[in-house]
Amino acid sequence: MSFREVDKIPARRDITTNVTSYSAHREDLIIDFKARCGYCNDIHIYRIASFEIDHFIPRVRNKKPFLSIKSDTDYSNLVYACKSCNNSKRNKWPTNDENIPNQNDKGFIDPCDKLYDQQFIRLANGQIKAITKLGDWILKELKLDKPQHEIIYNLEQLDLIIDQLKVDIENLEDINLYKRITKLLLNYRDYVQQLGTV
Ligand SMILES: [Zn+2]
Repeated sequence: MSFREVDKIPARRDITTNVTSYSAHREDLIIDFKARCGYCNDIHIYRIASFEIDHFIPRVRNKKPFLSIKSDTDYSNLVYACKSCNNSKRNKWPTNDENIPNQNDKGFIDPCDKLYDQQFIRLANGQIKAITKLGDWILKELKLDKPQHEIIYNLEQLDLIIDQLKVDIENLEDINLYKRITKLLLNYRDYVQQLGTV
């Protein structure tokens, strides 16, 4: 079992538009990151207001400007990220060399790099588990074992079941109980989705 399913792996387009602020890239990032945090793969629908933009190579390191090979609006250095991963990552960059994302099992991997998937697996209960030493470092530093990632993964699985129920119900007759359960599930999902937008 790999960490991310193929259709949930981010892929940045080669966007070179000049923008005055990196936040102008938000809509493009949402598309390229499949509406998910690059690091934990949480979908943003439940907590869209708390999704942010991370600079993969940090802008500041040890209180000094760090980015020299890229500008802070450079699309190739941006990651759509949940608040938890972005806050946990902060300005960490253990190699202290912006050209070297990781070394000796410490540091980061760009989430758009296929190597990212080789560091973790997703357990059936939704937990993210590291399977390499570098993955272990990343998991601890980004707190990928926080319960919210497991919960959001499971909510998304439930949503798929609800979608299937919605289709199934059209093909059945005299099913009041089934209808009531489906209505309840749809109401439940509406509330969860509304919560993510307030
Ligand atoms: Zn995240």
